[in-house]
Amino acid sequence: MINVAIDGPAGAGKSTVAKGAAAKLGYIYVDTGALYRAVGVYALRHGVDTKDGDGVSALLPEISVELKFIDGVQHVFLNGEDVSAEIRTPDASMAASNVSAIPSVRSFLFDLQREIAGKNNCIMDGRDIGTVVLPNAQVKIFLTADPEERAMRRYKELIVKDPDVKYDDVLADLKVRDYQDSHREIAPLKPAEDSVVYNTTGNSLEESIEKVINIIKEKTNG
Ligand code: C5P
Repeated sequence: MINVAIDGPAGAGKSTVAKGAAAKLGYIYVDTGALYRAVGVYALRHGVDTKDGDGVSALLPEISVELKFIDGVQHVFLNGEDVSAEIRTPDASMAASNVSAIPSVRSFLFDLQREIAGKNNCIMDGRDIGTVVLPNAQVKIFLTADPEERAMRRYKELIVKDPDVKYDDVLADLKVRDYQDSHREIAPLKPAEDSVVYNTTGNSLEESIEKVINIIKEKTNG
């Protein structure tokens, strides 16, 4: 199987770029952030502090998370319920970042990610895909962009659903998540040593997809 790992901070355009490249290459696109978001949403629903390692760990035996690909689009199921929309709120983003620092949560989601990559040609995006989940991926890309541009992209996505969203709040949340994600003890966000680092600041979506496809083709002789 051909596995492409795309890691990088929030709002770098990983999902849009990876989705576009996967569609053109005929690979499936796997968004691993959705798994952490689903666990975060479960904790929020049950009133458990998402930073409480013991509290969140105690919930894990009650949780089943599945990814299903419907018409090529990933849906995430939490105990059989499709929560693909609910996981996209700012509260779910912060909850995901909080629970993702808990080691038992990371090991809970590890096998599922490995299993999917073992069975499919895929582009998998996350924070630790090239460093921890798929250290043998044929292609590793670290996608980033300046924080202000990342916050503006995220703001434009969120404002469609909630007209009260403020750019400054989005930027502040993004900086908190970046800090938490890159300073946690377990599987911190960082480029794999053998990754290609690509900063998309100022590039259009089409340019970024093109560039990512070229990197993949170069590395896979495709
Ligand atoms: O990619 P997305 O923004 O949906 O991820 C939500 C959160 O899940 C991230 O802020 C990060 O803390 C966590 N995450 C992770 N490892 C991954 C994917 C996401 O820790 N592979």
